[in-house]
Order: sequence, then C-alpha cells, then structure tokens
Amino acid sequence: MPHRSSVPMSWRLKNSRYTLTGTKCSCGKLYMPPRAMCECGKDKLVPVTFGGKGTIVSYTEIHIAPAGFERQVPYNIALVKLDEGPVISGVVVDKNIKIGDHVRSIFRRLQVDGEGGLISYGFKFELEK
Ligand SMILES: [Zn+2]
Repeated sequence: MPHRSSVPMSWRLKNSRYTLTGTKCSCGKLYMPPRAMCECGKDKLVPVTFGGKGTIVSYTEIHIAPAGFERQVPYNIALVKLDEGPVISGVVVDKNIKIGDHVRSIFRRLQVDGEGGLISYGFKFELEK
C-alpha cells in the first residue's frame, strides 16, 4: 500500500496560502502555518481559520529580492503576531511601517513565473487604517 501521508499536509499548506488556515490542538495550541502534530504530542489537530489581524513585532526591508520578486523591491517583510497568538511572516504592502503597527491580511498576486506564466496568489499584510 503506498504511503500517502504527505498528500493531506501539502493540501493543507496550499489551502493556508489563501485563507490563513492553521491548525489547533485540543490542548489549545494554535499553529500557523499548520502542523500535523502538536508539541504536546497529540496528532489530532483540527483546521482553524484566523481573522488575519495582528501586530508587527519585527520587520526587514528587502532590497535584494529572490527570483520572481525583483520588480517589487524595496519591500517589507514583517513578523506579525496574529490576534489569536501565532506569529507568521509576510510581505507588508505599505512602505512606512513600524513595530507595533496593526495590520490585516489581504490577498494579492505574489509572483508571476516567467516561463510558464504561472501566477501564484497568497496573503500579504496592509496597515489597518
Ligand atoms: Zn497540543
């Protein structure tokens, strides 16, 4: 029988790019990006959707971008502590940001793959005004 355990996890990771879906353990621990097993040892985690609002706890201005992102520099990547608790990283579309700013997630085109013309979408953050 083929071992297929990676399939549900990759599906969940893909899903998380569009809806900020993480996982939650019965012990109360939340994970974003989602994890299949909790640090408490349980593996019966259930999907949980986050509201997408949070606070910037750290950020870096990117001047040298990875392939596919060259036209977007400079841009900010921030660590955002979601209101629910987990800390995730993401691009902040605003230029002037500071630690403590409140942000919310938005869905934007992330990059265009030149060869195949594949467009990937995912979440970014913008300042809450
Ligand atoms: Zn747990």
